[in-house]
Amino acid sequence: MTDKKNSRRDFIKTTGKAGIALGLASAVIPSFANDFFKDSTTSIPFSQRPLPYGYKDLEVAIDALTMEIHYSKHAATYAKNLADASAAENVDERLISLESLLAKVSKYSTKMRNNAGGHFNHELFWQSMTPVSTRPSDQLTNAITKDFGSFDAFKTQFTDAGKNRFGSGWAWLLVGADKKLIIGSTPNQDNPLMDVSELKGKPLLGLDVWEHAYYLRYQNKRPDYINAWWNVVNWDIVQKRLDAAM
Ligand code: MN
Repeated sequence: MTDKKNSRRDFIKTTGKAGIALGLASAVIPSFANDFFKDSTTSIPFSQRPLPYGYKDLEVAIDALTMEIHYSKHAATYAKNLADASAAENVDERLISLESLLAKVSKYSTKMRNNAGGHFNHELFWQSMTPVSTRPSDQLTNAITKDFGSFDAFKTQFTDAGKNRFGSGWAWLLVGADKKLIIGSTPNQDNPLMDVSELKGKPLLGLDVWEHAYYLRYQNKRPDYINAWWNVVNWDIVQKRLDAAM
């Protein structure tokens, strides 16, 4: 991660100088400053980062075997397929951020859409959970209360978005264009950053409701998985994403 970040920075520095020398700076150098996930806490690289906890650390909500298979098989496959699609479609992560790619994903293949989305969503998801109990800040609670009536109403609406997503997909809390908080869901591995998505905005919290995320422990009982999941939400990172989005 550190090496990758440094190499990206060095690349930009080096290429920046070369680009300026060639008078190509603005054409060659991407503007990462325009990206939503611009700070180091939320910036998402094209490859998997280590889980910020152990497989069994979220047992209160998700069993260790599910976490292991989910991270090391399912999510790893999205990352690998994203790398393959990027190679095939001339996407260079030193020149475009994952978020910028998602914003114009309609210009790429279905493989890119599914795997850029799959990789992004899972990287966001792992960071959205923690074995350490966190509480929503007053600022976040106030924002949620303002837009959903109460914190309980927000949880109910979000839970319903996950419960009612037919087939595989994700439930989201996001900031819409008018800066209001919105709840919604997307099918498959789509997400609200994609130009092809009906639901659009900056995601603060995403919940994987694919069966692979919960089936070993919960089988057909998706609502039980969602109810338990609230116990491991990392509200601190939701707050950081809110800060970045506003
Ligand atoms: Mn998943």
